[in-house]
Amino acid sequence: MNIDFANLGLAYEEHKLAIDKAMSKVIKDSSFIMGPAVADFEKNLNSFVGTKHSLTCSSGTDALLLAMMALNIQPGDEIITSPFTFIASGETIAFLKAKPIFVDIEENSFTIDPAKIEKAITEKTKAIMPVSLFGQVADMNAINTIAKKHNLYVIEDAAQSFGATHHGKRSCNLSTIGCTSFFPAKPLGCFGDGGAVFTNDDDLAEKINSLRLHGQTKRYYHKYIGMGGRLDALQAAILNEKLKYYCNDIIRRQYVAETYSRNLKSSIIKPKITPENTSVWAQYSIRVKDREQVQEKLKSLGIPTAVHYPMPLHLQECFQYLEGKKGDFPIAEQISNEIMSLPMNPYLTEKQIYYITEHLNTIL
Ligand SMILES: *Cc1c(COP(=O)(O)O)cnc(C)c1O
Repeated sequence: MNIDFANLGLAYEEHKLAIDKAMSKVIKDSSFIMGPAVADFEKNLNSFVGTKHSLTCSSGTDALLLAMMALNIQPGDEIITSPFTFIASGETIAFLKAKPIFVDIEENSFTIDPAKIEKAITEKTKAIMPVSLFGQVADMNAINTIAKKHNLYVIEDAAQSFGATHHGKRSCNLSTIGCTSFFPAKPLGCFGDGGAVFTNDDDLAEKINSLRLHGQTKRYYHKYIGMGGRLDALQAAILNEKLKYYCNDIIRRQYVAETYSRNLKSSIIKPKITPENTSVWAQYSIRVKDREQVQEKLKSLGIPTAVHYPMPLHLQECFQYLEGKKGDFPIAEQISNEIMSLPMNPYLTEKQIYYITEHLNTIL
């Protein structure tokens, strides 16, 4: 059996005609930078997410940078985030010379544990950056309550959760600013790098728009130190097509996840979605001891797996200056050692899913 982990090729094949046509239009019109494709996509993003402002940008990483720059995060400011995430969450904080303050995660959702946040707040804390991991948002209601009490911003790192919901409201519309990524392997992916920043605040939106255009307010007049952070019009055109059937993709991902969970035997620790959430299943990850051996066996059966993520941020070499050490965040460390992602994409067939679960039930 031939199983593809993310199946990015089929995502193109399925809507090839529409995507090719949208790309041709951008090329024929030579509107490569900003222009109608980007404006259309931002309008569609607003109606999908429910925010007043959507500002597309060059990547999820740049979305996080733009959000913190707009909030005027300064060297020495502290930002609370999860140690169990992709490097960009902590890296962007450090890139601005602010200080990432890690808080351990909940064992069930793998997202930051709100009960541990308050202890980490100091006078230097400016923001909380919860990470919506594997397609599910953190306990945003609890986090927003803490933020309000301490007068902090909340920046949702929603790179993996575009389309997910929390109490019926979409991810990216749950805090001061939401940031997502359209990296090809994310639930809504383009054909290169891309991202977006979301907010309901008019002033922040205006500033983010300027920051992604080198801080300009009008052509060649620059109010801020910004960056070249725009989304390519070609990517916007592709995303505009893909967004049309994204709800269908989400349903298919949810079906794959439900089928995995139903078929895997009860002794296997499966991902848990809390009742107030729906997930877009960026990853379907189980916990296994002897992970390497299990991965090897699955690989020999034609079943690809991946590890998101093998090392928590506080133990990464680049963060050694923060003096984190083993034992600081025991849950994040344990999950890092055991986590293993199964193939996840809207195109997995029932036969493929059964093949995977049957072998896992035998091996584990
Ligand atoms: C992918 C990802 C990012 C960065 O997005 P890019 O578009 O790759 O820059 C940030 N945070 C998390 C949690 C991610 O998974």
